[in-house]
Amino acid sequence: MKAVVVESFGGPEVLQVRDVPDLVPAHDQVLIRLHATGVNPVDTYIRSGAYGRLPETPYTPGFDGSGVIQACGSSVRGLTRGLRVYVSGSLTGTYAEACLCSPTQIHTLPRQATFEAGACMGIAYATASYALFHRVKVRRGQTVLIHGATGGVGIAALQLAKRAGLKAFCTYGTETGRLLLIQQGADAVFDHHESGYEDRILAATEGLGVQLILEMLANTNLGRDLPMLATGGIVCVIGSRGPVQIQPRELMVRDSEIRGVLLANASQGVLAQIHGDFFSGLGDGSIKPVVRRTFTLEQAADAHELQMMRGSAGKLLLVHG
Ligand code: NAP
Repeated sequence: MKAVVVESFGGPEVLQVRDVPDLVPAHDQVLIRLHATGVNPVDTYIRSGAYGRLPETPYTPGFDGSGVIQACGSSVRGLTRGLRVYVSGSLTGTYAEACLCSPTQIHTLPRQATFEAGACMGIAYATASYALFHRVKVRRGQTVLIHGATGGVGIAALQLAKRAGLKAFCTYGTETGRLLLIQQGADAVFDHHESGYEDRILAATEGLGVQLILEMLANTNLGRDLPMLATGGIVCVIGSRGPVQIQPRELMVRDSEIRGVLLANASQGVLAQIHGDFFSGLGDGSIKPVVRRTFTLEQAADAHELQMMRGSAGKLLLVHG
């Protein structure tokens, strides 16, 4: 089978497609023939060697994917050959035509959902859900600011927020992003590159502030987020690429909080709830991932280049045959 193999950490060019031996599941593993693979920012951090936990090289990247179960190990129960599934993590990497998974990494894909949709769920949607409903318990009618709403996590958060009856304020960086957010049902949109956008957001709440901010670029925005919070409001830090200075007094005067969010910390019980909810949402169409562009395995380096450029508008995927 074909797989992307990284021999040593480096730029996108280290993503090389190789012919590797076919995978055989152990007694407690499942073999999945992949049709689509989700590309995520974390794949690029790991590939470049700039991430806290790095795999041993050589390795095959990728956490997200979707496809069909091809074989189950002898002790696997409840999963059968031919089932359409998506995965949230794997044992062998998803930038490949097939992968091995533990049963807990596998989630049934409803027949109404495409493989492309399935490949978006594992990191982006699960992170948005973990932040909105587990790290914070949002309530219907509250206002959430999705700061960086045009990317994988942002679009997921917008769809999940609207589905939960929240008011969703969203930020974008390009005109394409602005139009996408409006089409996705954002209640108000703001340009995160325009000076003074914080004042416009505050004005849109009649000066009261927002109850929750989902922050995708805390190193740039955290200091400016705090004055936009309502009393008792919370900033969830989902993405950050460096240090930042804040004025703690802005927290004190509002009884407000900054909370970290790391999907890897979610328990198996929480993940089971999250993916159970996705089964309903993918089935009834209330969760509909937006795919910006698809690539082949051979084009994985191009996908990584685009992933780290400004101007997001949904997810990037690798598709296989
Ligand atoms: P993505 O698809 O690349 O999207 C990046 C988002 O950041 C886009 O919406 C982009 O908007 C926005 N952005 C760029 N400049 C910004 C600014 N100055 N202010 C606010 N937003 C800005 O990435 P993703 O998959 O959505 O992930 C978002 C971040 O969360 C990444 O840093 C990722 O590593 C992190 N993440 C963390 C977890 C976790 O468990 N904590 C899980 C998944 C992802 P424009 O392109 O429109 O400017």
